[in-house]
Amino acid sequence: MCQNQLGKACISVQCAKSKSRHCDEFTEDDRKQIFNLFWKQLDWGQKKAYAVSLIDVVPCKIQNKSRRGDTFIYYLKLSDKKVRVCRTMFINTLAIGEKQVAGWIKSSLSGSPSCNKPSATVKNISEAKKTLLEFLDWLPKIPSHYCRSTSSKLYLEPIINSKMDLFRIYQDHCETKNLRSLSRYQLSESLKEMGIGLFLPRKDQCDTCCSYQVGQVFEAEYQNHIANKNSARYEKAKDKCLAVEGQCHVLTMDVESVKVSPYLKASALYYKTKLMVHNFTINDLKSHHTVCYWWDESEGDLCASSFASCL
Ligand SMILES: [Zn+2]
Ligand SMILES: [Zn+2]
Repeated sequence: MCQNQLGKACISVQCAKSKSRHCDEFTEDDRKQIFNLFWKQLDWGQKKAYAVSLIDVVPCKIQNKSRRGDTFIYYLKLSDKKVRVCRTMFINTLAIGEKQVAGWIKSSLSGSPSCNKPSATVKNISEAKKTLLEFLDWLPKIPSHYCRSTSSKLYLEPIINSKMDLFRIYQDHCETKNLRSLSRYQLSESLKEMGIGLFLPRKDQCDTCCSYQVGQVFEAEYQNHIANKNSARYEKAKDKCLAVEGQCHVLTMDVESVKVSPYLKASALYYKTKLMVHNFTINDLKSHHTVCYWWDESEGDLCASSFASCL
């Protein structure tokens, strides 16, 4: 079967008699338009999203572990209205393979334990996607400059540190709302779509060292970097000796990554914007006198003058 040719329209007698399916409402022109939109204007990902949005899944009734019992309801769009059609009409008009459709449905449903949910009724997959986007929208975010990042991404607050973490919160969210949850893959894709990143805690290693480990920095550059590091260490040790002799004061300082207050992993707080708190520690190498400054975003930000004030 050629994938790029409009297939035959439905001529089923059952469809003509059916009150729920309306295959005969589509003219040959309507079908051509749908076909052209699908094959000429959408990329592969959009094709999938389009097809999946036109299929309703009615989950199997109760306590059936397999997904075999699910029923699929197909629609085609007639001037922006979804009109129910039979499967043949759906597949022939979009000119896609049955296996392709089955694969798309499966991937958009994976990870959704809907079969044993008593409340499971007709749930449209595109609705689940909408819920997912809303969920991500609700989560408070922090601007990228708190995360040593140069991109314009938004970041989730640092109480969520892994995708698995986020996925669990999302699943809880769906469960309390009695909604079908989409897969982790779908979650990752939506994060990309919305330009949201996970807050990555400050690494102990610097960017050059990390890049070197994954082979993105040349050997010579790395050796130079290590030499610089060693000479900095040496200078620090030398200065410390001078300080011990009483010739000068040597201070070391460090800024920790942004913290949120309250720092609680309670689900009630996931959707509340928290207070950003910064801290800056200064240590005198000789006297071991240490001061840790804490301030929140209402008192100051992370610009140079904040640190100058501390000093
Ligand atoms: Zn039909
Ligand atoms: Zn380094």
